[in-house]
Amino acid sequence: MAEERVHLRKKFKFLKDQVSASTLEAVKGMGFKIMTDIQAEVLPAALDGLDVVATAKTGSGKTLAFLIPAVETVVKCLEKQIQGTVCIIISPTRELAIQTYSVLQELVAHHGNITSALVIGGESRKKQSAELSTGVHIVVSTPGRLFDHMRTKEFDYRNVCCLVLDEADKIFQYGFEEDLKQIINRLPKHRQTMLFSATQSERTDALVKSAMKEKVHNINTDED
Ligand code: ADP
Ligand code: MG
Repeated sequence: MAEERVHLRKKFKFLKDQVSASTLEAVKGMGFKIMTDIQAEVLPAALDGLDVVATAKTGSGKTLAFLIPAVETVVKCLEKQIQGTVCIIISPTRELAIQTYSVLQELVAHHGNITSALVIGGESRKKQSAELSTGVHIVVSTPGRLFDHMRTKEFDYRNVCCLVLDEADKIFQYGFEEDLKQIINRLPKHRQTMLFSATQSERTDALVKSAMKEKVHNINTDED
């Protein structure tokens, strides 16, 4: 029996023990005080390092639900002197990747020491390769181009401990299944994986089984 969901209305500042002051400052700068339902449900678990599957309709605020944990992963890695690329975000389209990258820039603006790169098709491979070779902390990408770079020596992804699949349903619809499989096969097994989607399907379920830990935190804010 489905539990009745309550409207959470939790403030971002309730996360202050889990999220750095610079990140909270940036969220405040965006004008957001109250988390959306998906953010309130995903953030505590994701910040705890759990694998998360989140389903919520378009416009529910999923971007910050994964970008905040991604940035905090970098903060923790830097504290532990872990260098290089630690987080990869995969989007189904260039447009979406650009949009996500732009929110990420706002979110890291107060950090000063967090680096990122946008790795999408249609842009210079050479420039992307040069950026990746510096060991940028967060990579926002589309599957095809990301996989291309994974087959070069310039991109060192051995320290990746956080993988985000945004709009996972669309990644399949656009035919990136094989690229995604190859990418996931090459990534370190010991990592956090977060899968976001507007809809669930057999293919996303299969991906959860094959690419995520046995114990996943499953959140669906569309169920009432
Ligand atoms: P989704 O990925 O679920 O489609 P987005 O992350 O793109 O949703 O967010 C949709 C819109 O809601 C964006 O314009 C974003 O800036 C805004 N938004 C995100 N979080 C909040 C919040 N906590 N309060 C108010 N607006 C928010
Ligand atoms: Mg989205």
